Amino acid sequence: MARDPCYDILFEPVKIGPVTAPNRFYQVPHCTGMGWQRPQTLAEMRGVKAEGGWGVVCTEYNSIHPSSDDLPHPSASLWDDSDVRAHSLMTDKVHAHGSLAGAELWYGGIRTANMMTREVAMELDSFPNSIGHPFQTRAMDKTDIKTFRHWHRRAALRAKDAGFDIVYVYATHGYLISNFLNPRMNTRSDEYGGSLVNRTRLVRELIEETKDAVGDRCAVAVRFSADDTIGKDGVPIYGERREMFEMLSELPDLWDINIADYSLEMGVSRFVKEAPLEPYMDFVKSVTSKPVVSVGRFTSPDTMVSQIKRGIVDLIGAARPSIADPFLPNKIKEGRIDSIRECIGCNICYSGDSIGVPIRCTQNPTMGEEWRKGWHPEKIAHKGSDSRVLIVGAGPTGLEAARALGERGYNVMLAEARRDLGGRVTTESTLPGMSEYARVRNYREQELLNLPNVEIYRESALSAEDVIATEPDHVALATGATWRRERFNGEAYVSIAAPGTTPEILTPDDIMAGAMPSGPVLVYDEDSYYMGGVIAEHLKAAGHNVALVTPADNISDWAGKTSERWRVRSHLMKLGVDTIVSHSLASFDGETAILNCEYSGAEKPLSVTSVVMVTQRQPNDALYHELLASVDGQIEKLPFTLKRIGDCEAPAIIAAAIYAGHRYARELDAPVDPDQPLKHDRIDVGTLATLTPEAGSN
Ligand code: ADP
Ligand code: SF4
Repeated sequence: MARDPCYDILFEPVKIGPVTAPNRFYQVPHCTGMGWQRPQTLAEMRGVKAEGGWGVVCTEYNSIHPSSDDLPHPSASLWDDSDVRAHSLMTDKVHAHGSLAGAELWYGGIRTANMMTREVAMELDSFPNSIGHPFQTRAMDKTDIKTFRHWHRRAALRAKDAGFDIVYVYATHGYLISNFLNPRMNTRSDEYGGSLVNRTRLVRELIEETKDAVGDRCAVAVRFSADDTIGKDGVPIYGERREMFEMLSELPDLWDINIADYSLEMGVSRFVKEAPLEPYMDFVKSVTSKPVVSVGRFTSPDTMVSQIKRGIVDLIGAARPSIADPFLPNKIKEGRIDSIRECIGCNICYSGDSIGVPIRCTQNPTMGEEWRKGWHPEKIAHKGSDSRVLIVGAGPTGLEAARALGERGYNVMLAEARRDLGGRVTTESTLPGMSEYARVRNYREQELLNLPNVEIYRESALSAEDVIATEPDHVALATGATWRRERFNGEAYVSIAAPGTTPEILTPDDIMAGAMPSGPVLVYDEDSYYMGGVIAEHLKAAGHNVALVTPADNISDWAGKTSERWRVRSHLMKLGVDTIVSHSLASFDGETAILNCEYSGAEKPLSVTSVVMVTQRQPNDALYHELLASVDGQIEKLPFTLKRIGDCEAPAIIAAAIYAGHRYARELDAPVDPDQPLKHDRIDVGTLATLTPEAGSN
């Protein structure tokens, strides 16, 4: 299909100093949870983005010296020649598709405690570690500043040796260089503190020295914040930022613009929609003649074109949209806009870095699996047989399994009990702020329209007899899970109903189906992710008095890993939801809920007439057990293969459901060795002569 000419502007080359980006699609530096530990995994993933049309593909944060070590959060590194070799795996793959590769040089300062290297972190001053580790930084003297500049230059040279085309001076996000610019933090009395000229001295020196070191072949980019400090969303507080820009505006070859509030820049869709940085960008392009890139979770090509035409940016920066759909640029280029897998803004991708494991994505099940499983986001093997596959349940798991099997050419029957497809994402997307979660369904439903070999049967709740009568060769049960009315006390699921009472105990499923509590309500959150907060907000909006109670020490504790916990709690406070942490729910008789302090055991009564239990989920696996019972539990006696997948197998996050559905489709006729299901990206120390034979050597 030909693309609409109105999008041609997105495919214009852009000159960036001594290099030229082939188009305006720019994958900004983003963390991956891989870093220096998994170079092959990383290189393959970045290469796929270049293949998908991203004209520039950058690294994550690259430590320039062991005194900037973020572990357990995995950063990349440019410490020695081994790093150069590792990075060249990536630059080769990016260059193979005609794209530019960018390296972000990074020094953490106040934000790194250097737990792995045990080096002392350097900063402007002797500051406490800002992540809460009981470590302080060393106040940099002038020799330290000189040494730091030397390290930065050396890392830039290594980046050039590794084949990078763009090298960053990273002066934002609260790391060392940005703190020199900060008038409240930088109280130095030497030539690096005080006046604006003094506070911008270090970044000026670094730009000039990086240009001097690598500028003959590499562009020098600066990552910089447009505003000075966090204010109300969409209302910038500029401080001296404009003056700073004016002083530095023509020095680098490219400006990569961020803002002070990371929770807005990297905001979850529940609170932040597309293009939130635009109000902060209004002066940037007028101050510099150099190209400007910025982000905005852009998935709409119309928004992208509008940003360029209105002079807000020159390059469309993206981290998450490039993760959800590495082929987004090519899909626009080829007029396949309907096939874009739009990011839902859930930040599961970011949780990889938070936890210290490789990145995953809710929308893109192949993200992070490019090397170790050989999965490609747009290519999948043709079917290995003429088998007929029955998938029961069209939630995220079933939809993705049907889509991927359909792509492979299989004849697929997808049976869904309800009229609407989408399962949990359809119901959850009706809750406050959650509408973008429906994109999980929309993308797949749209793709299924082009797959006549996938037949969809709506309003078809299948029984075991129905399944057998269909005479399939393979059956996948993607029947999901149901929220429990009990809680898990660490050893068993227990009811909270006081003996002899039948109080009103609801679940998120009841609420999503339209139920409302009869009066003041306690939302009890043992799930600790987004659901507790969203249900509390929904009930508050309906006019109820709501208390959100959790045994964890934080509201929506796990949402800290997706960088939304702060927003969740402040939002609930603004709405007037009472929050109680570190208390478990012991019992409820319909009038009083008894809470127990997790530390002292002290009882705390709360007067409510309803409780909503946001605890655990029960797999909907009755059909599985009925089918097994039909052959006395001997699965091999069934006339088809039978598997539970997704929440029906083991309830988890939506990303796990999509992954399970995709995996089922990939592995249907290509069984994976359960002993060694994936490749292991780590340093191989060679062969040992004394291996036990049955242990297997590869
Ligand atoms: P997952 O996240 O694993 O996809 P969901 O709970 O989102 O799970 O979706 C499961 C889907 O399966 C729901 O849409 C539900 O209506 C459907 N379903 C459950 N049992 C049956 C059944 N026996 N026959 C057909 N569909 C079913
Ligand atoms: Fe977007 Fe969520 Fe995927 Fe991240 S994990 S890219 S936020 S869909």
